[in-house]
Amino acid sequence: MSKFWSPFVKELVPYVPGEQPKLAKLVKLNTNENPYGPSPKALAAMREALNDDLRLYPDPSGECLKQAVADYYGVQTAQVFVGNGSDEVLAHAFHGLFQHGKPLLFPDISYSFYPVYCGLYGIEAGQIPLDENFQIRLEDYARPNGGIIFPNPNAPTGCLLALDAIERLLQGNPDSVVLVDEAYVDFGGQTSIGLVDRYPNLLVTQTLSKSRSLAGLRVGLAVGHPDLIEALERIKNSFNSYPLDRMAIAGAAAAFDDRAWFEQTCKAVIDSREVLVSALQGKGFEVLPSAANFVFARHPQHDAAKLAALVREQGVIVRHFKQERIAQFLRITIGTPEQNQALLDALSSI
Ligand code: PMP
Repeated sequence: MSKFWSPFVKELVPYVPGEQPKLAKLVKLNTNENPYGPSPKALAAMREALNDDLRLYPDPSGECLKQAVADYYGVQTAQVFVGNGSDEVLAHAFHGLFQHGKPLLFPDISYSFYPVYCGLYGIEAGQIPLDENFQIRLEDYARPNGGIIFPNPNAPTGCLLALDAIERLLQGNPDSVVLVDEAYVDFGGQTSIGLVDRYPNLLVTQTLSKSRSLAGLRVGLAVGHPDLIEALERIKNSFNSYPLDRMAIAGAAAAFDDRAWFEQTCKAVIDSREVLVSALQGKGFEVLPSAANFVFARHPQHDAAKLAALVREQGVIVRHFKQERIAQFLRITIGTPEQNQALLDALSSI
């Protein structure tokens, strides 16, 4: 704390990202990255963009990436926003769409950045408990709100909310924005982007960090009614005109164009998730049904924090959250079959 700070800075409770260890040898199953690399075509496009043109600013609105996303989802570019990771897109949505003097509703167990953005933008966090099976109960969202947000599939549970339930939520809240954070949707969910033409209050965010294996590039996007997109553009153009650099725009657009790589790598992750789930169940773990590139699991006889520490000693890192309701769970990112086996071996030795 320093006298130079603006007063609100001391009240902030910043987000704590998962560990990015310096030791290269660790098997890293803690931050939901993709174990397979990005599309070779995306890498080639980035290499091509690495040239003398870097002296020039990039296209401020990343039109060619918006076009690739619009083509992929069959929407108009005016319905697409792109930003520096979906975290930035979410921040602009909180700033531009959720400051209405009423609580923003979201599940008590969900992405831990949401309460952080509430703190940053002075929004009341209306946290709604998931039911005893860690599912969203729609009735609980029928109350005055300045917006609704949830990840689908949810994080860190991996549980999916069906599209017809999302539609009921949209119909029940015509006067507030419902933001569906689809960071993990490609690993087993169905996107709600198909609903944007019918629901002007729906905003869907996605990221290239997970299913397109570009966490290091920092690219995220939103799809929704042009009026919602315009709010995000106004915020962005009042904050940073060039959130995406030339390489990010080129690489992300090429990643969207390379459907074959995307489908093949998503399938590999889904297949090894099913193998890992069975193996964990075989060891006595209870595993929540996952539609994501991670699983959320607890063991009735072993303390989760201790298990996380013990597997780390064996060179495998998984994520443990201290939040009371989920303190006995481990969130395990799906790795390659070899990485998953390393985790299972570490667990066996305990
Ligand atoms: N939403 C959820 C639910 C996430 O888990 C993450 C990853 N931490 C993000 C959004 C943000 O991802 P990124 O900024 O890499 O696009």
